Amino acid sequence: MKVNPLALNPERYLNYNDVLRRKFSNRVQKISINAGFTCPNRDGSKGWGGCTYCNNQSFSPDYCRPTKNIRQQVEEGIGFFNKAKYENQLYLAYFQSYTNTYDSIEKLRRLYEEALAHPKVAGIIVGTRPDCVNDELLDYFAELSGRYYVMIEYGVESTNDDTLRFINRGHDYACAETAIRNTAQRGIYTGAHLILGLPGESRELILSHADTISQLPLSAIKLHQLQLIKGTQMLRQYEENPGIFKLYTVDEYVDLLIDFIERMNPSIAIERFVSQSPAALLFAPDWKLKNFEFVDKVKKELQARNTYQGARYISGRQ
Ligand code: SF4
Repeated sequence: MKVNPLALNPERYLNYNDVLRRKFSNRVQKISINAGFTCPNRDGSKGWGGCTYCNNQSFSPDYCRPTKNIRQQVEEGIGFFNKAKYENQLYLAYFQSYTNTYDSIEKLRRLYEEALAHPKVAGIIVGTRPDCVNDELLDYFAELSGRYYVMIEYGVESTNDDTLRFINRGHDYACAETAIRNTAQRGIYTGAHLILGLPGESRELILSHADTISQLPLSAIKLHQLQLIKGTQMLRQYEENPGIFKLYTVDEYVDLLIDFIERMNPSIAIERFVSQSPAALLFAPDWKLKNFEFVDKVKKELQARNTYQGARYISGRQ
């Protein structure tokens, strides 16, 4: 029987940062770019009002201002991290805010290639919705992948269509699956983002996302706890009907994550376990933990339970 190497790995899960470091033989840092895109789930093209949990201000770092062009943002991002300590590291330009494929292909090419023109930028990561890519764009990304690191990161959020309707995502899980398969089959690195703990999702339903997503040709996954953000439709729903929400404590969420990681395909790297919205925007849960402190808890719990990513993964189980 084939031994899962993660059973012997000190971290006990496939850490995306390690995967990148091995690929580039160097430290690699992402820098966030706000290219001034809008969102088709807000302007009526795919839907109105946006996803119920979304307040886009909650995931744009301070150094990133849409009034600056891409080159300025890249230089400021590199300056920020270079000053910190690592002069020789490489950078990936992370097109993060809103839907970063929502424009004409001519404009998209110009924006991505403006970032790639910087000699320290080794590639791009493009965050988008699965209903905002097409064959022409994916063919372009495939061509670009021959010269640079390119990852397309899709917001999947849940594999359950009832949940996706409830949070007003404007697409179903089949749409996400199709986009991921069409991207990966062109040899492009493909990522997915999931929120654990969306309203109405039981523990078993949340864990079933691990089984379903594990069947996809993904390079990496980001997992986030549900956060209630001020000014969102979801916070209003919570105030009206708190019974359909389960806001996890740190320990409960770590426990859920360990079960989730055990069911994950061991070949899909894990990039994040939590998200951190700015304190001024966050309503709950307020864990007051830095990302590295949380990751440390996950690693310790994996060790304490003597388990690892993929320990309960079954190929073909959905
Ligand atoms: S989460 Fe993304 S797709 Fe949803 S409303 Fe916000 S920017 Fe748009």
